[in-house]
Amino acid sequence: MIYMNEVSKVYSSGSVALSDITVEIGKGEFVFVVGPSGAGKSTFIKLILREELPTSGRLVVNGRSLLEMPSNQVPYLRRGLGIVFQDYRLLPNKTVYDNVAFAMQVIESSRREMQKRVHNVLDLVGLRHKVRTYPSELSGGEQQRVAIARAIVNNPAIVIADEPTGNLDPETSWEIMKVFDTINKAGTTIVMATHDKTVVDAMRKRVIAIEKGRIVRDQVKGVYGYEN
Ligand code: ADP
Ligand code: ADP
Repeated sequence: MIYMNEVSKVYSSGSVALSDITVEIGKGEFVFVVGPSGAGKSTFIKLILREELPTSGRLVVNGRSLLEMPSNQVPYLRRGLGIVFQDYRLLPNKTVYDNVAFAMQVIESSRREMQKRVHNVLDLVGLRHKVRTYPSELSGGEQQRVAIARAIVNNPAIVIADEPTGNLDPETSWEIMKVFDTINKAGTTIVMATHDKTVVDAMRKRVIAIEKGRIVRDQVKGVYGYEN
């Protein structure tokens, strides 16, 4: 699914965000990316989304080599990826239904099929009863559920999440993690950058730890490993 070989990223400012990263993330894996602030976690994620290009190395996502990829191909790459952010990033003037439907790639699908799909993903995140609600009327945890529904509505092979529980209390964070776990058990690969020690230590998933731009630890059933 994701393959990095000797990937480095040096920003134009000269700051070395990642050095010589070689890692493979397979189909159906659930991976936490951890490390101190400034370690390179966001850069790692931005490279996968092709928001940034590596300075050197080889990077393949969903069978596409990102270095050689022309920019007109980027939308096709992103269609295979679902993205969840710390701050939800919902459209404030659209309902829950429209936030999810708006993200849907309507490829010859009828309005009826679209409604079915939107309702299915809202069911999966437990928010079907909120379809006509606006984001401002929802709690943080509910907004994040909508964001997750939006991320999976196109059936992406990979869901990328950057600090998805960063604004949530521990109990709500745990509910959100259960949603990610369900999505993962359905076969979707999950890559999540996080500072949430409690969640990482409880989930016992693969942990990739980055420090100063290098992978310093890669554990199968890992722990967070830092003091928060
Ligand atoms: P993390 O997500 O682990 O906090 P980042 O990937 O954001 O780490 O940052 C890694 C390093 O790269 C830091 O030194 C940071 O200051 C630098 N950096 C990140 N983004 C940029 C950018 N757009 N331009 C220049 N330097 C950046
Ligand atoms: P996070 O805490 O999520 O890792 P950061 O605080 O490191 O995020 O970065 C926030 C934003 O600022 C990101 O878009 C990152 O690319 C950018 N950024 C971080 N460090 C620098 C830097 N040294 N110069 C320019 N932009 C930066």
